Amino acid sequence: MPSKINLNRVEMPKQPPDERRRNFQEVALGYTEEQAMAEAKRCLQCKKPKCVEGCPVGVDIPEFIGALREGDMAEAVRALKRKNSLPGVCGRVCPQEVQCECRCVLAKKGAPIAIGRLERYVADWERTQACTERCEIAPPTGKRVAIVGCGPAGLTCAADLARRGHKVVIFEALHQGGGVLVYGIPEFRLPKSIVQSEVDYVRSLGADLELDTVIGRQFLVKELLDEGFDAIFLGIGAGAPRFMGLEGENLNGIYSANEYLTRINLMKAYLFPRYDTPIRKGKKVAVIGGGNVAMDSARCALRMGADEVHVVYRRSEAEMPARLEEVENAKEEGVIFDYLTNPTKFIGDEKGNVRAMEVVDMVLGEPDASGRRSPRVKKGSEHLMDVDTVIIAVGTVPNPLIPAITPELKTTKWGTLVVDECGKTTMDSVWAGGDITTGGATVISAMGAGKVAAADMDSWLRAQKKHC
Ligand code: FAD
Ligand code: SF4
Repeated sequence: MPSKINLNRVEMPKQPPDERRRNFQEVALGYTEEQAMAEAKRCLQCKKPKCVEGCPVGVDIPEFIGALREGDMAEAVRALKRKNSLPGVCGRVCPQEVQCECRCVLAKKGAPIAIGRLERYVADWERTQACTERCEIAPPTGKRVAIVGCGPAGLTCAADLARRGHKVVIFEALHQGGGVLVYGIPEFRLPKSIVQSEVDYVRSLGADLELDTVIGRQFLVKELLDEGFDAIFLGIGAGAPRFMGLEGENLNGIYSANEYLTRINLMKAYLFPRYDTPIRKGKKVAVIGGGNVAMDSARCALRMGADEVHVVYRRSEAEMPARLEEVENAKEEGVIFDYLTNPTKFIGDEKGNVRAMEVVDMVLGEPDASGRRSPRVKKGSEHLMDVDTVIIAVGTVPNPLIPAITPELKTTKWGTLVVDECGKTTMDSVWAGGDITTGGATVISAMGAGKVAAADMDSWLRAQKKHC
């Protein structure tokens, strides 16, 4: 390495914890121009950049950082958008620490380049400009593709196919596009306006968006093909909640994280009665689980006015799947972590409201199939924890509607769709990708799957005869 390397990254300003724990505004404030330039100048512009190998959509990271530090912002935007149609989203929520950033050559000796923060800076710069940079669009092919689901997988597949000249229509069950980006991830991590502007960008490439349309109810998958679509991509996610099957789980005040977050984020329950969806404002809240969903639920409960919010997790901190940054944010805001603890039943009052939770202490044994040490119950450790609200965030399962009524689509024992390495399902002319094929994963892995499927669909479509 050259001698004058700066191994310290430029920190990004955040709202102070005491302020932000009671508001829904974005926590991270983004780099200033000066900060972005200083961070970009640390990049070594490697000839064989390892960071790119860690990006599931293959963004040319040194290229966009190089353009940024030359002050050529429009080129930085173009370099990002050549591979990634949702840079403002990815710059905020991608787990860069386990993807591009952990492969950055600087990580061997110090802090890797803050690739995500720079991506966010470039995407946010573009939003302040009068017009957006649009990638080139190939001449029309005459082929029509239906995309089911407007989450990151569907949006990426739609953008890539539209850019290749195919006519794309996205069908979305909800009244807003974005998938988990709008109904799951809270405003204080990912403002809805950012998601909306990136959905609008995909539409500007020529993709139509049909909201409030549930495929499997209004139209069957086969009917879309009969209607004249040449190919279909299913990006329908894994948004169905998983419960624990414990006694008392149906008591009032116990929510799935899915319902809790949807009410707060998509239906704006935190602005009730201005918006007409209510939610219980618990005083002592327990969130069960240790992933990003648990962190988001706990931090939402604090912002709804809870006095005490506990994350109850059956393993130790080292095994928690949540992003490190979000765990740190939750701790700074005052969320209490009860590690090696697991609920065994919920106890209600005479009106059917949850009032306590029986929990046991756990100890860790040998690693299980996931590679994490498996938890065992410590005998005789049962004790009660007073709670008035519980949020269950122990994972989700694939949305079952389409697989259940489409026998041509083969599923695994976990309910995910069976696909080959290109995302092709077992049904003719139908591809799939994202959480519906992997189970709950990440935004960028869903986008990567949308990209791979789009490339395969494009080759297949071009090999078919044109419609007259
Ligand atoms: P989804 O985002 O679930 O989108 C699927 C879309 O399909 C939805 O809009 C749904 O309404 C629609 N749909 C379903 N069925 C039908 C139908 N029959 N007809 C029409 N439309 C249908 N990942 C990260 O990388 N970083 C994070 O910080 C992060 N935080 C998360 C926080 C929460 C609370 C949750 C729940 C997830 C989080 N994830 C995070 C995971 C990430 O959001 C998902 O992996 C990703 O959104 C999956 O994308 P997808 O396109 O496959 O599905
Ligand atoms: Fe820059 Fe790190 Fe990528 Fe090298 S590996 S090009 S230093 S971001």
